[in-house]
Amino acid sequence: MEFFHVIIRRPLVIAWFWLLLLVFVHNAEKSISASNYLVGLGSYDITGPAADVNMMGYANSDQTASGIHIRLRARAFIVAEPQGNRVVFVNLDACMASQLVTIKVLERLKSRYGDLYTEKNVAISGIHTHAGPGGYLQYVVYIVTSLGFVRQSFDALVDGIEQSIIRAHGNLHPGSVFVNKGEILDAGVNRSPSAYLNNPTAERAKYKYDVDKEMTLLKFVDDQWGPVGSFNWFATHGTSMSRTNELISGDNKGTAARLMEDWFDQKRAARTANENPRRVSNIIQNAPGNHREFLELASSFQSTSGKSVTKYLSIARRVRSSLRTAERPSFVSAFCQSNCGDVSPNVLGAFCTDTGLPCDFNHSTCGGKNELCYGRGPGYPDEFESTRIIGERQFKKASDLFTRASEKLNGKIDFRHTYLDFSKIEVTLPKQGGGSESVKTCPAAMGFAFAAGTTDGPGAFDFKQGDNTGNPFWKLVRNVLRTPSKEQTDCQQPKPILLDTGEMKQPYDWAPSILPVQILKIGPMVILSVPGEFTTMAGRRLRDAVSVVFKEKVHVVIAGLTNTYSQYVTTFEEYEMQRYEGASTLYGPHTLSAYIQEFTKLAAAIVSGGTVEEGPQPPDLLKKQISLLPGVVVDSTPLGVKFGDVSTDIPKNSTFKKGDMVTIVFWSACPRNDLMTEGTFALVELLQGQDTWVPVYDDDDICLRFKWSRPSKLSAQSHATIEWRIPQLAASGVYRSHAKEDVGIIAISCCCCCLEWVDPATAQPQHPLLFSILVSAEASMMRETKKNEEEDEGPFFVVFEGSF
Ligand SMILES: [Zn+2]
Repeated sequence: MEFFHVIIRRPLVIAWFWLLLLVFVHNAEKSISASNYLVGLGSYDITGPAADVNMMGYANSDQTASGIHIRLRARAFIVAEPQGNRVVFVNLDACMASQLVTIKVLERLKSRYGDLYTEKNVAISGIHTHAGPGGYLQYVVYIVTSLGFVRQSFDALVDGIEQSIIRAHGNLHPGSVFVNKGEILDAGVNRSPSAYLNNPTAERAKYKYDVDKEMTLLKFVDDQWGPVGSFNWFATHGTSMSRTNELISGDNKGTAARLMEDWFDQKRAARTANENPRRVSNIIQNAPGNHREFLELASSFQSTSGKSVTKYLSIARRVRSSLRTAERPSFVSAFCQSNCGDVSPNVLGAFCTDTGLPCDFNHSTCGGKNELCYGRGPGYPDEFESTRIIGERQFKKASDLFTRASEKLNGKIDFRHTYLDFSKIEVTLPKQGGGSESVKTCPAAMGFAFAAGTTDGPGAFDFKQGDNTGNPFWKLVRNVLRTPSKEQTDCQQPKPILLDTGEMKQPYDWAPSILPVQILKIGPMVILSVPGEFTTMAGRRLRDAVSVVFKEKVHVVIAGLTNTYSQYVTTFEEYEMQRYEGASTLYGPHTLSAYIQEFTKLAAAIVSGGTVEEGPQPPDLLKKQISLLPGVVVDSTPLGVKFGDVSTDIPKNSTFKKGDMVTIVFWSACPRNDLMTEGTFALVELLQGQDTWVPVYDDDDICLRFKWSRPSKLSAQSHATIEWRIPQLAASGVYRSHAKEDVGIIAISCCCCCLEWVDPATAQPQHPLLFSILVSAEASMMRETKKNEEEDEGPFFVVFEGSF
């Protein structure tokens, strides 16, 4: 109200008011309130090797990457006081953070920015996808099935995280942060309900559900550019994709992020007059008016015989880069993990694969066997559909929270961080009936139930399975297995110890003992960086304990799997039940109490302005790492066949409807030769006008799958398969597609000639690549011009012109 009084008195200011109002109307979401922070977001590709490398999460040695469902990204935000503290949070489309990755990223940040970004104010967190390349952790137990350390996976992460922070740093502008919360009821169920039920009745009575349903979202608004992104925390496992999936994917959270970023970009593009939104039909200029003209147009494109028609760089730039402008920051939306320890996205429940009946409640077994009990996602039996649905549910809630976010964060930015030796923390607990008692954490150990896995992945980390003759890494280390001491057995009670990992040091440490704990605070927003998977009730206890330390009203979120990884954390009562999560709570029954004690100290230090001890440094084991995964030895094609030639074509004059799958197979080299970071292995392009091809879908699109395979394990020949599920929103038009054949040791010359694809004299493509697909639909064409007509049910044809 005061604002208006001032304006009325001063005509000059009225002019300013109208100007401001115009700006406001032009971009309704842009905040006009004064900013209180500097805000910057950034994102970078961390997909890593899309072939041969074991996937992290299920510890299934047969599950190796063989293509891409969607790409993986590191997404970072920085919030800074203009003249004071700052915090960085990085969310990885990876199974978890890695101590070694964190150490190396911090080293690079130090050499680049001095003391601006350190272990104290940088948090690096994983979404817990079980569909990303493994081998990037430093402790033995996490790299057994990946045949040891995988340098390519590790480098992709370190490089990508550094780049995401560089981008966020470069985007720092005055801006504001808003918080909003809401419930998602159908994206997670408790997968160990019998353990949850062992928590005290009175405690359970405080909660409506046996998993946390709340999503907490931060919205970042740049004063100049308007909304630039969001980060949210919600607890559900990244196990919509099963233990047999071999396509790299961000699982449900990566999918949600892809949907949200595309949603915002299309929204923004639709608002901006001079930009065409991606994936809508009006990007076809001068489109032929009927089916026959499409056919004629398609047939004018000739076979390519294995040579690229697209400039290497334009493939590498891929679809989404067309929406970027040099100065405007890309919209970054991250879906971060929380206390997901006992939360499964397989919301239909767990059933026996033989009988179809629900599994045994207490043991998740079928006739006494764990390997037949599987959780079912909402898209059952299609795991891709389950992934999409759980991703979409998170995306929809996030976009809703984002749109309606109005609580602006104000107040100081602060942080505390310490390293603790979890093998021997003294914990003081209040005693029933008064007084206190002193208990202790133990060196890490895993119980027998660990090998049984969960309903999301029966037999996960199954060391019996790993202990076969097929795994040379296991052979190398199995001789050093040790029997736990009596002290350790007593300390870990009632856990029967399968692997005494905390006391196994050969050839190097099997499990971490030094763990970081950290609090980042932006005004009333409190982020607890925990290096593991807290169960629902464990997370609630930690959040509550920290909340009461702060006098003000705070929003406390648990950032799970952050900075390093040390498996699970259950409550004392859940630990007693020794289900998978209890068996994987490494430091004994008082692990959670130790976390609560130490996090409370950090919070108290923030409140009092005090300091905390740095604690013992975790080891850097990079030099000790053993890698047994062979590199790419050789790539070849059969006589008379070139890399990139079509191996299996779609039949001539095929007709497809929206929703149908188009499948083309090419001769390929191994994708490990070139990770195509920030690029793509596959493209679907749309013809614009008569001769301009516009990329519309790439390997980061849910509708386009890039699959790579060898006819046999030792074969030098390989195939790339592109599967394109024609989206309902696909424009009519002429399409073609590429698979990127890689720079193999033998394929180098081939690929180099692919790079020189343009005749400098005519600027014409010399070797049109691979194939053309024709899309034609009178009905859907008409829909574009007559928007008011009802939903198109008419024919939508994709006709392949078989020119090779
Ligand atoms: Zn997990």
